[in-house]
Amino acid sequence: MTKAAVKIKDFSFKYPDATAALDNINLEIAHKERVALIGPNGAGKSTLLLAIGNFLKSQDPIEIDGLLSTKKNIKKIRQKLGVLFQDPNDQLFMPRLFDDVTFGPLNMGLPKEEVILRSREALRSVGLLEKKERQPHHLSAGEKRAAAIATVLAMKPEIITMDEPDSSLDPRSQNKLIELLNQMEQTLIIATCNVNFVARVCERIVLMDDGKIIAIGNRKEILGNQELMNKHGLEVPAQAILED
Ligand code: ADP
Ligand code: MG
Repeated sequence: MTKAAVKIKDFSFKYPDATAALDNINLEIAHKERVALIGPNGAGKSTLLLAIGNFLKSQDPIEIDGLLSTKKNIKKIRQKLGVLFQDPNDQLFMPRLFDDVTFGPLNMGLPKEEVILRSREALRSVGLLEKKERQPHHLSAGEKRAAAIATVLAMKPEIITMDEPDSSLDPRSQNKLIELLNQMEQTLIIATCNVNFVARVCERIVLMDDGKIIAIGNRKEILGNQELMNKHGLEVPAQAILED
């Protein structure tokens, strides 16, 4: 049997202030799948992405590509799993875009030629190669998001988690992002409450509320279920998008 990209079994998590953010989560994601985590604010989407990235303090281990995220395996797992933070500014901190993109692969200890090759390829794939000398904080919101994605792609992870990658993008930048995501070959796990956005990117939808998984299904089953969506504070995307 092939190993799942992500396997989470009976996972619960409380923040140190005792907020129960995740309650008995069971979720398996296959390689190359594009999965959306949707749900209202506070549902636990970001916390679940943090759990998958193994960033939560004293969390239980989860399985990434057959490897349990114990201390021993964490370095290997970090190479398999890339994380796109909610705020691109958290990922762009160098004075020059190219240096932001080379930062990750350099840290992985790769040879310099390989780092340059990968970084150019990553920037090209997000359409920013010509802007590699620019100061990241001078880029537009859409370009910053694309740049942050390039910093992740340069590390060549098999799995990428993204927290609200659509936020603060105008419609044209959102369309560009959708195009880019649809071209990507990695396993993608995307948290968002923008149903019109995920309907155009993800085939499998995980609906969360109150720290629990409420429903898992394909996009028509979940996003097209008005009663279910409304019950959890979400809207049904435009019919045309669902039929697409
Ligand atoms: P979402 O991303 O779906 O909006 P979150 O995962 O951010 O939801 O939050 C889930 C729950 O955990 C919420 O009740 C939120 O207030 C709480 N929470 C999030 N971060 C923290 C934190 N650092 N400390 C305490 N509670 C938190
Ligand atoms: Mg969130």
